[in-house]
Amino acid sequence: MIEYENLHASNKVFLTDYVKSFEETLNRGWFILGKSVERFEEEFADYVGTRHCIGVASGLDALILSIKALHIPEGSEILIPANTYVATILAALHCRCVPVLVEPDRDTCNIDPTRLEDLVSPHTRAVIVVHLYGKPCDMDPIMAVVNKNNLFLIEDCAQSHGARYKGTMTGMFGHASAFSFYPTKNLGALGDAGAIVTNDPLVAEEVRKLRNYGSSKKYLNDVVGYNSRLDEVQAGFLSVKLKRLEEINSHKRALANVYHKALNARFRKPVVHPDFRDVYHIFNVRHPRRDALREYLLRHDIKTEIHYPVPPHRQKALEQYFRGKEFPVSDEIHSTTLSLPISFAHSTEDITRVAEVMNSFPE
Ligand SMILES: *Cc1c(COP(=O)(O)O)cnc(C)c1O
Repeated sequence: MIEYENLHASNKVFLTDYVKSFEETLNRGWFILGKSVERFEEEFADYVGTRHCIGVASGLDALILSIKALHIPEGSEILIPANTYVATILAALHCRCVPVLVEPDRDTCNIDPTRLEDLVSPHTRAVIVVHLYGKPCDMDPIMAVVNKNNLFLIEDCAQSHGARYKGTMTGMFGHASAFSFYPTKNLGALGDAGAIVTNDPLVAEEVRKLRNYGSSKKYLNDVVGYNSRLDEVQAGFLSVKLKRLEEINSHKRALANVYHKALNARFRKPVVHPDFRDVYHIFNVRHPRRDALREYLLRHDIKTEIHYPVPPHRQKALEQYFRGKEFPVSDEIHSTTLSLPISFAHSTEDITRVAEVMNSFPE
């Protein structure tokens, strides 16, 4: 059986270092906002190239606290790609903002920059871009719209740790950028974790307060905050893994290359362009008979996933916000996309095997 993902296998190479890190934390006896979080925040800011990094409890919280820290008023419209994980939209709703969905580009599956300008209204305050599947968005035309209309830009980098656009790391473009370290992400913890990166010291200070009950001095509360802290144990594990993130990404890129070379033209593969350094959090293909293809692979002992089976605008929780709106491009992607195995634990042989079985799928 070729698994879609085996988190035990992807993590066991780090076991010795994880144990060492855990022992250090236990011996210090300090579990919330201590040395490990501080160290990881410095290391991750260095890695991305931003001045600040603030660890929080999850990717969703990183998005919510980004919106809050930028003081985007309730009722503001925020432009968000229609093709994203539901969390991006939930973040806007939790901040009482109005998510305005933007169709993706058919080829990149990311937000279509040519559709942005028309959707900007007098109520628009921000754009959240999502570098979906690990592929950076086309930032130049997006930045042009953001700057021209004086909007805030938030990047959802939950799938794009280490991805670069024209040589610049994703996370460097936004006024605030949100990362998730959910276990399956390219930089994954052994539990929930997230972070915000920013170059703006005021945004950083605000997030530091918001994550800790609105407090910068113990028992003094300046703003109505949350409890959303990255914990010491996870921060220690993340420091261990961050040292190998480039290696993880290179491994995934090498596996993606095998797919790109081997898969025949019946499958619509991710677009490749020298401006986009894709880290392949997900390697997706599109095929009109996606469900039959998935069944076929399973019969040949290959597990796959679908990211995502139901588009956000069709989710029960969200329908009410998008009634009467149509997103045919997003619908098309959701109904044809299939995610193939591509992880740190997979070998070139695994991927070659998946490609062979794919190519033998009867028309
Ligand atoms: C995983 C993910 C999130 C949410 O991250 P959590 O850590 O699970 O809260 C947000 N946006 C995108 C695009 C994601 O893939």
